[in-house]
Amino acid sequence: MNRLTGKVAVVTGAAQGIGAATAQRLAADGASVAVLDIAAARDDVAARINAAGGRAVAMRCDVSSEADWAEAIRRCRTELGPVDVLVSNAYTVDVRPAHETSLASWERQLSVNLTGTFLGFRACLPDLTRNRAGSVVLTSSVHALIGLPGRPAYAATKAALTGLARQLAVEYGTALRVNSVLPGPVLTAAWDEIGEADRQRSAEETAMKRLGRPEEVAAAIAFLASEEASFITGAALTVDGGWSVYKMSS
Ligand code: NAD
Repeated sequence: MNRLTGKVAVVTGAAQGIGAATAQRLAADGASVAVLDIAAARDDVAARINAAGGRAVAMRCDVSSEADWAEAIRRCRTELGPVDVLVSNAYTVDVRPAHETSLASWERQLSVNLTGTFLGFRACLPDLTRNRAGSVVLTSSVHALIGLPGRPAYAATKAALTGLARQLAVEYGTALRVNSVLPGPVLTAAWDEIGEADRQRSAEETAMKRLGRPEEVAAAIAFLASEEASFITGAALTVDGGWSVYKMSS
């Protein structure tokens, strides 16, 4: 499918997991992709895309840094062209209850997960609006909807991202589309610390009785990014195998 041919996409947190799968999926759909991350593995993702016949450039960008964004978008324009699609996906989490969360930890999670999205959106905005056809997808989480102990800042940022997507969709409604995706349990490095028994339980708690794959979230993001979703804006698309609609007890 070449529904993104001629488009330039920026994906953050793209060195691994859902971000890497999204970068690869957008490239397979024809986009030139800027692979942004603080982790060096961004180079491997870009190399894989280029080896497969796509076009990608890896760039170091800490999404919480306004200066990093300015430099990444400058390079993106020079090396790939103006931005048509922004996928804001990078995140950080510090798992502990609110009373054990320091102000520094709280602020770091907000600055990567939420402020990083605002900074990226603002940096890309002149490009995204130039043809009145830009598309933005924010990676939120089912934790925007439901609590899981030990994630106060993470949950707050993920709920804020669905609100921000709706707000930006309204604010720039005739110039670009903004949507969010809410992944459920998707097997990535985020699950490295989670044991087999807990993974099994999470799989059981989905309607589909399994964990998701990063490619399955990437497919939803690519759809929202493309013109196939031309009348969809301000939407929050859950991609969780039915986890959030499955009540386990009577
Ligand atoms: P991951 O840990 O595999 O990847 C996250 C990437 O973000 C890493 O490559 C990391 O280096 C990068 N990153 C961290 N801080 C950054 C910064 N300051 N600037 C730039 N990059 C930075 O995680 P994942 O599971 O692929 O998660 C991707 C997104 O999906 C996140 O927004 C996460 O909240 C969301 N999500 C994941 C799941 C899941 O089960 N995996 C569930 C719900 C939501």
